[in-house]
Amino acid sequence: MAKMSEYNEQQKEAILMVRQHLSHLPNSELRWLIQRIKSYLRFRKVVGSFQQEHFADICSEKCFTSRTSACCGREGIITFFADVAINVLLSTSKEIDRLLETLERDQGGFNCVYLNKSGCLWRCKPIVCEMFLCDHAKNLVLANNERLASQWQGFRRRERMYTWPTRQVLFDELEVFFLHAGFESPLMYLHKSPGLLRLKAKRTGKSAKLSKTPIPGS
Ligand code: SF4
Ligand code: SF4
Repeated sequence: MAKMSEYNEQQKEAILMVRQHLSHLPNSELRWLIQRIKSYLRFRKVVGSFQQEHFADICSEKCFTSRTSACCGREGIITFFADVAINVLLSTSKEIDRLLETLERDQGGFNCVYLNKSGCLWRCKPIVCEMFLCDHAKNLVLANNERLASQWQGFRRRERMYTWPTRQVLFDELEVFFLHAGFESPLMYLHKSPGLLRLKAKRTGKSAKLSKTPIPGS
């Protein structure tokens, strides 16, 4: 079997870490996690419906039939550790196995490793994928429609409430949850990316390595 790319290795490690930790968690902590991501999932549902309603036809015509999509390119997206955590939390064991097998058997090519004939293999795809719109799609749908453009801007602001650490955010909190359990991954960008760490430092007024996010049961 060919050697896995670094990207695939990191993805696989993160999935395994999350799966391992979740499998040992008491029900009370699992319930806490599910409760904690509820508002994020509501947000994702609304954005998903918006995308479906206003962009599905355009995307299908422009890209999926011609297979020239600017979305879903190979190793073209950042997946946050929290994306992985949320997806594993929502997936069945079979679905997680499928992701792992896909990473292991990857033969290369131009498309994202997770893209197969029926679409994306993630149950809850990464936030970067959900929020990406190419210029062609934006120009067709948003450029001449103030109402939809403003709705999209609202979604972008709401996205930051979960991912952008100028405040305490879910994506940071989920990294802390796993860091405190002894897991570490290069996908923990809210603890690894110099730019995001600078944003956190501005908020807390000190160098931000591990945030003081409360952990269930502590
Ligand atoms: S957002 Fe743009 S690049 Fe992506 S699938 Fe839609 S039309 Fe294609
Ligand atoms: S994770 Fe899914 S949605 Fe994102 S680029 Fe890959 S196939 Fe596309």
